[in-house]
Amino acid sequence: MPEYESVIGLETHIQLNTRSKIFCGCKADSWEDDPNVNICPICAGLPGVLPTLNKSVVEKAVLLALAVQADNILPISYLARKNYFYPDLPKGYQISQYAEPLARGGRLIIPSADGEDRVVNIEKLHIEEDAGKTVHQNGKRLIDFNRCGVPLVEMVTAPDIRSADDAAAYLIQLRRLLRWLGISEADMERGQLRCDANVSIRILGEDSLNTKTEIKNINSIENVRAAIKTEVKRQIQTVEAGQTIEAWTLGWDEDTETLRKMRSKETEADYRYFREPDLLPIRIDEEWLLEIKSSLPELPLARQKRFTLDYGLPDYDAAILTEERSLSSYFEATVKLSAGDPKTISNWVMNDVLRLIKEKKISAGGLRLIPKYLAEIIEIVESGMITRGTGKELLVNVEDKGKTPLELVELEGLAQVSDEETLKSMAMTIVDQNPKQVATYKAGKATILGWFVGQLMRATKGRADAKIVQSIFQELLDNDGDLGS
Ligand SMILES: [Zn+2]
Repeated sequence: MPEYESVIGLETHIQLNTRSKIFCGCKADSWEDDPNVNICPICAGLPGVLPTLNKSVVEKAVLLALAVQADNILPISYLARKNYFYPDLPKGYQISQYAEPLARGGRLIIPSADGEDRVVNIEKLHIEEDAGKTVHQNGKRLIDFNRCGVPLVEMVTAPDIRSADDAAAYLIQLRRLLRWLGISEADMERGQLRCDANVSIRILGEDSLNTKTEIKNINSIENVRAAIKTEVKRQIQTVEAGQTIEAWTLGWDEDTETLRKMRSKETEADYRYFREPDLLPIRIDEEWLLEIKSSLPELPLARQKRFTLDYGLPDYDAAILTEERSLSSYFEATVKLSAGDPKTISNWVMNDVLRLIKEKKISAGGLRLIPKYLAEIIEIVESGMITRGTGKELLVNVEDKGKTPLELVELEGLAQVSDEETLKSMAMTIVDQNPKQVATYKAGKATILGWFVGQLMRATKGRADAKIVQSIFQELLDNDGDLGS
């Protein structure tokens, strides 16, 4: 059997997080709302109404085009009608873009664990409206029009992806980028990021593009991986059995982990596209483009790389810290406010701050433990004023109580008991009061030393260095209660 490779292209639909829909003033995000509450004559497709394009949809889409280094952001692009009938599409057509999309060309880099970054070329990027949602319930079909007119960006890749794992990695990078840019929540479970995969196979080493099938609307990254793997396997078996691949549209059933044939694929001619007569062309002049460009932040991969160069962080740290934009800014702000070593700060952020963020379900920008306070905590731990353990508790306390670290150290008496004379006199009291345990120690049971250390740690509420305490007790017990004085 020859060796095959898979040839995969992805079409993603990205829900932009604008306040209102693409052609009317209705609320765009209906996730928590009842069916059919965010609708008006325009998005419900009543006859005689006129759509108006939401400027913010164009701005967010152009920002994405810039972030994927689009080769050509068209100065004039057109909206187009895509005609088809579906119960949840009340107008009988969808307003999309066709021959003149918003942008062409571009690329998304997928960093790879093997060090060989993959480049996935983007063919085109356009804006369009979403259709409604059909819900199957108790043998009935119910239609919710809330989603009609919700703004989407469709982004289509070239057939550059060679494995199901790379397809998953592409989506992870895309999701990171969309959240970073702040243009979409990109939650696949909520349909804010949807993926169709075009899959074909060829004998390894060949350049041909063979007949592809399309797997529609896969709703999680894990399902994308599983669906593509299943389809590649089916295509290989089909070809090996001497049959031909047909251009089917397939649906993934996540419960049974199988693909089912939905229909033979429509051709583009079936949609009878034409320019939308109710809307003006989209003009993006130089001035507007520059304005959008000026709001483009440093991108995640660039920042990740910079963190390794500027702060000497391992790539693992840099990747975690730049997973999310506000976390990366939080880390960098802390470094700038602190005299401490960036790697030490990275450890605190990756472990303690990240845990706090997950527990509280907020972003780093929403913490009461601002970078200045984290820098303060790290500083007083490093100086020995408080123990590392106390520092970890203090961090949670600052967040909960909204007081500064130094206020809390003062208020709650958290400072470390580091004065050896104080510790020695506390240890002598414990030895005097516990003759039975002393006798046990003398009888050769040295492990009871831990019990003595525990008593003192309890007395100081953990605010002493256990190693120093241990050596004090050792000396005390070995010298018959006399500390060599
Ligand atoms: Zn509306």
